[in-house]
Amino acid sequence: MFSKILIANRGEIACRVIKTAKRLGIKTVAVYSDADRNARHVAMADEAVHIGPSAARESYLVADRIIDAAKRTGAQAVHPGYGFLSENAGFADACAAAGIVFIGPPAASIRAMGSKSEAKKIMEKARVPLVPGYHGDDQSPELLAAEAAKIGFPVLIKASAGGGGKGMRVVESAEKFADALAGAKREAKGSFADDHVLVEKYLTRPRHIEIQVFADGQGNCLYLFERDCSIQRRHQKVIEEAPAPNMDPARRQQMGEAAVAAARAIGYQGAGTVEFIADQDGTFFFMEMNTRLQVEHPVTEAITGQDLVEWQLVVAAGGKMPLTQDELRIDGHAVEVRLYAEDPARNFLPSTGTLVHLKLPEEGAHVRVDTGVRQGDTVTPFYDPMIAKVIVHDRDRTSALRRMAALMGETEVVGVTTNSVLLKALCSHPAFVGGEVDTGFIERHRATLFAKPAPAGDRAFAVATLARLLEWQDAAKPAAGDPWSPWNQKNGFRLLEEGHEEVRWKDGEREVVVIARRLRRGGVRLELPEGALEARVERLEDGRLAIGLGQDSFVATVVRRTVLDGGIDYTLFMHGGSLRLRLVDPLDVTQYEATASADAVVRAPLPGKIIDLRVKAGDTVSKGQALLVLEAMKMEHTLAAPADGTVKSLRYAVGEQVPEGAELVEFE
Ligand code: ADP
Repeated sequence: MFSKILIANRGEIACRVIKTAKRLGIKTVAVYSDADRNARHVAMADEAVHIGPSAARESYLVADRIIDAAKRTGAQAVHPGYGFLSENAGFADACAAAGIVFIGPPAASIRAMGSKSEAKKIMEKARVPLVPGYHGDDQSPELLAAEAAKIGFPVLIKASAGGGGKGMRVVESAEKFADALAGAKREAKGSFADDHVLVEKYLTRPRHIEIQVFADGQGNCLYLFERDCSIQRRHQKVIEEAPAPNMDPARRQQMGEAAVAAARAIGYQGAGTVEFIADQDGTFFFMEMNTRLQVEHPVTEAITGQDLVEWQLVVAAGGKMPLTQDELRIDGHAVEVRLYAEDPARNFLPSTGTLVHLKLPEEGAHVRVDTGVRQGDTVTPFYDPMIAKVIVHDRDRTSALRRMAALMGETEVVGVTTNSVLLKALCSHPAFVGGEVDTGFIERHRATLFAKPAPAGDRAFAVATLARLLEWQDAAKPAAGDPWSPWNQKNGFRLLEEGHEEVRWKDGEREVVVIARRLRRGGVRLELPEGALEARVERLEDGRLAIGLGQDSFVATVVRRTVLDGGIDYTLFMHGGSLRLRLVDPLDVTQYEATASADAVVRAPLPGKIIDLRVKAGDTVSKGQALLVLEAMKMEHTLAAPADGTVKSLRYAVGEQVPEGAELVEFE
């Protein structure tokens, strides 16, 4: 076994690999870019080496720097994680040339599966079922269009070099083919420097079911069952589970054996995943093979009780796999959700910012949390916006989903928008819980999954007001230390000795005034929109607020934060949900100006590059009409008109880089 390894990655996967290495007594070397100087993976490793600027192509993707770092620190092997260099055959070769073990398959296996088109040719030979389509070399738009017509619409255009749903376009009809092809090629070129595409039949209501395979260098190859990853947005996985709902043992064995055949066909070694797309009736077709550890591997670890990173290390060091096919069993059910910094309501636009407040679920017998960030860290536009993976393992699917829904309700993030509300809605959705799974689930159930948040009630205004009163009290407190001082009384609100205080809040457009009066017997009386209530509050040691309101007592977290436009927001977490109120400061005029002008311009929601302008000055546009396409975080984002109007000016040209918040389009 190795005594020291280098992890050529960042974020949660780097942390996760380090964890296993630590347990096995293997020393670890982290690498990091400028943006990651203080990252969690750097703090967790025994040593760390700086490898360049923040952009991945100048740091995490530079093979030479990583190999240098390994040589310099005496690491005997490199774990590539997923993404970055994990499926780069040239990097695997370079490691071998430098006398360093690449913890992954042989370079030839990576090459064989590196192109979805080539992979399909190999699988065709191995008699693994394929989705009908065209995966040839001729890339002329006319030929591709003709092939699409032959397959029959809808079709799916995929980047051969693709991954993560990038460079993919669903095309409903012949007229839309040329545009979609151009878009797919542009995105593929940008993300993979290769615009080769394939076209295949687009299945309606398909399921994504994948098989975890493993092989060692001694001729053993097996499968660790399946994962269902059908719950997706923008063709990217959001929830994964193992085993797959409604899978019968015969089908499982059939798919497992097909996956093992695929792995054997390319002389595979290490961890790999064979992805299938399945019809509702269970018929399955090969989609692609990922020659690395997958993001969602923890659900397989949970149901098999194995540590796949340990298996990878054992196999890479020349050892035999710890178990045989017959020794593997499925225990219970596991679900993983990907908590992303993104806004589901804005077409899953990534959200960047500082994690001012972060409370992830606590780990325990049923719960595992894989994360690469801590409170205070920043989600930057440079890398994937995933905050954490939360994995639940329980006796059955219903229990696992119930537990997950509760955990999502208790997850607290302030500083970026997240998908936690959507994840909770998914895990508690009767149809999903009932076993309805397919890749169109989120779109089809949009109305129930994206329900508008209810307006704030009295309880929310009361909690926010109590937090505000505590702040005043804290600010007025003389130097601490005197236990007898009336200022140190926990819930008396000495400041309100005489008279009353007014606190104003804004919930969206609605403004509410709360009046607070101190009571002689302790606590305060709050005059709220729906009536008056007696209230008490105490700050607990962990910073949360213990609140008494009328007859009820409960605990809430309130986080105050100054946002980009200068306003002050209070985020409330209570009763398994969250809510945001804006403090209205009567002395501050800027907050009114900010909202007044907000509608007249469209700003860049993220730093990025303008890749297409769909309108010009003088055009009249209607609400929702596409204005321009911004490429940010390797994805294309179409920005739409917020209202009907006339375009006054466009501030940037195609090809220009724009900072976050830049005014892109101005209206009359
Ligand atoms: P990537 O490598 O970019 O993740 P995949 O080939 O793995 O691309 O496909 C990603 C997702 O796209 C699948 O999980 C599935 O939801 C959808 N998809 C892929 N092929 C098809 C198809 N032929 N019909 C319908 N959906 C598909």
